[in-house]
Amino acid sequence: MLIRWTTGFGHITVAYIASNFVSDSTTSYLQTLLRNDTGDYLAGVATWADSIRYTKWGRFTSGFHFIDAHDNPPTYCGVDYDRDCKKEAGCVVSALQNYTSQLLDTELPLWRRAQAAKFVIHFVGDIHQPLHTEDVARGGNGIHVTFEGKELNLHHVWDTSIAEKLVGGIRRKPYPFAKKWADELTEEIKSGKYAAESKSGWLRGTNITDPIATALGWAVEGNALVCTTGKFLKARKPSRARSWERTTTKRPLLSSRSRLQRLASGWLLGWT
Ligand SMILES: [Zn+2]
Repeated sequence: MLIRWTTGFGHITVAYIASNFVSDSTTSYLQTLLRNDTGDYLAGVATWADSIRYTKWGRFTSGFHFIDAHDNPPTYCGVDYDRDCKKEAGCVVSALQNYTSQLLDTELPLWRRAQAAKFVIHFVGDIHQPLHTEDVARGGNGIHVTFEGKELNLHHVWDTSIAEKLVGGIRRKPYPFAKKWADELTEEIKSGKYAAESKSGWLRGTNITDPIATALGWAVEGNALVCTTGKFLKARKPSRARSWERTTTKRPLLSSRSRLQRLASGWLLGWT
C-alpha cells in the first residue's frame, strides 16, 4: 500500500494532544529518552517513521504503518489479526506490540528504546486512520476524488487534506498550526463537548500489558467507520473522479477525522 504524507500534520497534532495529557513520570521518561525537554518532545519525532520508511535501512518497516483488513465494505467490516497481519512483513498491530515492549525493556540500550518510542508515537497515529486498517483499493490510494478543486486520492485526502482544511490551511508550517489545534481539542476533551465521552470510554480496552489486543481494538474501531461512512468505497474506478466536496459522506468524515485524532491521543493516556 502506498501512503503519502506531505506534512505529517495529523501525526504532529496527535502528538501535541498526547503531550497535554500524559503523566509527569511519562513526560520525564520520554523527554530523557528522546533528549528533548521542550513541549515538542513527542511532536518533534511524530513523523520520523515516515521519513525512514523509503530508505534502504528503513525498508523493513514499510509494512508497519497499516493492517490490510480483507473484509468487504460497506456490507461487512472487520479486522482479523491472523488473517490480516502479514506473517513476513508484519503490520501496524504487531509493530505496536513489538515497539511497545522494546520501549519498556530496561535491558535495551537507550538508543534502542528511543527508536522504539519514535515508532510507537507514529504508529498510534496511523492505526487510528480508518484507511490504514482497510485493504480496499490499497487503503483508498486507488480511489480518485476531487477535493478543493484538486484531483487526489482518498487516502491522501483523509490523511492530510481534511485535517489541513479543518484548520484553514497550514501554510507550510505544520508545527504551530498543529499545536494550536491540539490545544483547542485538548480544551474540548477536558471540559468541552468531548468531556463526557472521553472520561467514560476512551481508555476502555486499553491495557499496556496486552498491546496486541489493545491495538487490535483500535484497528477494529477505525475499520468500522469505513463501513458506516464508507459507501464511497464502491466508487473505485480511477477514471471517474468523484467530487469529494459534493458527496454526502463529507460531513461524517470530517467529524470522524478529528474524533480519531482525539482517540489516538487518548491512547497515550494508557501510559500514565
Ligand atoms: Zn505512517
